[in-house]
Amino acid sequence: MKGLVVAIDGPSGVGKSTVGKAVAARLGLPYLDTGAMYRAVGLAVKRKGIALPLEDREAVVAVASHVDVRVTGSAADARTWLNGEDVSREIRTPEISAYASAVSAVPGVRRRLAGMQRSLALEGGGVLEGRDIGTKVVPETPHKFFLTATVEVRARRRFAELSARGAPQTFAQVLSDMEARDHADSTRADSPLLDDGTYARVDTSALSVEEVVDRVLSAVGRGVQPPG
Ligand code: C5P
Repeated sequence: MKGLVVAIDGPSGVGKSTVGKAVAARLGLPYLDTGAMYRAVGLAVKRKGIALPLEDREAVVAVASHVDVRVTGSAADARTWLNGEDVSREIRTPEISAYASAVSAVPGVRRRLAGMQRSLALEGGGVLEGRDIGTKVVPETPHKFFLTATVEVRARRRFAELSARGAPQTFAQVLSDMEARDHADSTRADSPLLDDGTYARVDTSALSVEEVVDRVLSAVGRGVQPPG
C-alpha cells in the first residue's frame, strides 16, 4: 500500500458518506464511495430493461462487464459516471437503491467492482466507504471502522434527507426499504456486510457527525504515530 487507506463500513443510512467525506478532507486523501459504483451498475441494469427481482444473473454480469463506471472528484465534489454520463443525481433514488442492493449480490459484479476499488486504494490511498472494504477490498489496512445505529435512527436520517429533496416517500416506506436492504446486504452469500472482529466499532446513534469524525481521526492518528 502506497498511501494511508481508511475503511468505513456499515449499513445504509448510518452516515458513512458524510463521515467518510469529512475524514478524507481532513486527511487530504481521495474519497471513494463504493456504493455509488454498485448504484451505477444498478442503473445500467435497469436501463437495459431488466426487472427486479433479478433472475438472469448472467445477463446482469454481461451488463456490468460492458459498462464504464467511474467515480471522480474529491470529497467536496465527488461525481459518478456511467459510460461518460454524469449520473450522480440519478443514482440516489429509492428504486436505484433496490437495484444496487440486488446487483451487489451477484458475485461477478462484486469481483469486477471490488477489483477496481482495490486498485484505486492501492494506487494512492484513500477513504473508502461501503460494506466489505475491511473484509474483502483492503482487509490488510489497520484503519477499519464499522459504523452502527439502530434501524429507526437510520431511517429517520434517510427520511429527512429524502424529504429535503422533495422525494414522495412516507417514513414507514423508508423504514421498510431500509430493513429489506439491511437483510439483503447482511445475508447474501458473497461478501455480506459483517463485522468480523477486525474493526473499531462506532455506534453513531447518539453522536453528532463531528463527534464520529473526531473518533475516527483520533484512532487513525494513534495508529499512524511511530512507536515511542
Ligand atoms: O452505500 P449505498 O447505500 O450507496 O450502497 C448501495 C448498495 O450497494 C448497498 O445496499 C449494498 O447492497 C451495495 N454495496 C455493496 N458493497 C459495497 C458498497 C455498496 O454491496 N462496498
